[in-house]
Amino acid sequence: MSARSEPGVPARPTVRSSGSLLVDNIGELVTNAPGAEGDPLGLRRDAALLIEDGEVAWIGPARYAPAADRRIDADGAAVLPGFVDSHAHLVFAGDRAAEFAARMSGEPYTGGGIRTTVGATRAASDDELRATVGRLRGEAMRQGTTTIEIKSGYGLTVADETRSLRIAAEFTEDTTFLGAHVVPAEYADRPDDYVGLVCGPMLAAAAPYARWIDVFCERGAFDVDHARAILACGQAVGLGVRVHANQLGPGPGVQLGVELGAASVDHCTHLSDADVDALAGSATVATLLPGAEFSTRSPYPDARRLLDAGVTVALATDCNPGSSYTSSMPFCIALAVREMRMTPAEAVWAATAGGAAALRRTDVGRLARGARADLIILDAPSHLHLAYRPGVPLIRQVLHNGVPQCRP
Ligand SMILES: [Zn+2]
Repeated sequence: MSARSEPGVPARPTVRSSGSLLVDNIGELVTNAPGAEGDPLGLRRDAALLIEDGEVAWIGPARYAPAADRRIDADGAAVLPGFVDSHAHLVFAGDRAAEFAARMSGEPYTGGGIRTTVGATRAASDDELRATVGRLRGEAMRQGTTTIEIKSGYGLTVADETRSLRIAAEFTEDTTFLGAHVVPAEYADRPDDYVGLVCGPMLAAAAPYARWIDVFCERGAFDVDHARAILACGQAVGLGVRVHANQLGPGPGVQLGVELGAASVDHCTHLSDADVDALAGSATVATLLPGAEFSTRSPYPDARRLLDAGVTVALATDCNPGSSYTSSMPFCIALAVREMRMTPAEAVWAATAGGAAALRRTDVGRLARGARADLIILDAPSHLHLAYRPGVPLIRQVLHNGVPQCRP
């Protein structure tokens, strides 16, 4: 178990299973262990899995399963690692259903609606924000998400960004400071001053609650010079780098992320050949967020082009009230297969191991001895059903740190 704590971040109590728990009679087990050619999921048939102290202690053929204190009969179903949602904006207030309706009536998406949510978030109490994060975290868990990254970015003042991250840290280890989401209205005429605020007092106050720093590098948000300056300030205080890049049009964000050694560049909808080449020669993951293209009725990223070039691809929800109000990783898998030419196996890998790579974590996104006992039991015999049966509640049970969660 990798116990990671950041200086200044209050340790979250982790509820782990006690005693031993055997998940038996697994028809198809997705391990994500490097397997045979053409099997990215490391599939095993007729398997069993033993959990001790919140970790996977043993995996093997069901007929050799050891004794355990308790047993869950998977009844021939598929079992896979819990989903790793590496990109979510859960700390906000209000919703933007009317904006969605307007878009579906033909208005384009420009990213400008973020400021609507900023106003509502600033006006909300801590308890209101905490309740929203808790509700969405529970919603995601019921759909199989056992690891989630949560960004700030709807406060855009020192106090509101800091409290957003403090609340996010109550729910996840992977918190991201996104003070550079947009330039708030009060700084519209002096973006340099806002960048100075982000790099100075805002970063100083927010960093103790953050593991990552992120910038929306896009026309209408932050240009490449501002983005580079902000990310460098974050790196200087020990934060890892992520970038919102190339969502609305071509731009320098992806190559900036690669240049700075970002763990992930996210969206990647409009890529040049040079962008793809840069990603392919790097350790930076391309995180694709098809919920955003769905919700803004925009062209999807070309996942096939990235995969064929050898780029590591992750799938995440981008859960936020404006451009992708879904917490469902199965929905993203179905979109990726239907609309982005990913195979079902590639999409499931990207939603589990890919997300873990985007967060630079080795304890989640796979099932092997020593990994965190985060797993999903499907109401289906195969991982294929996640894309084959879109919109159907296929998550029968979720185990997090070896602890069975409430059934949906
Ligand atoms: Zn986002």
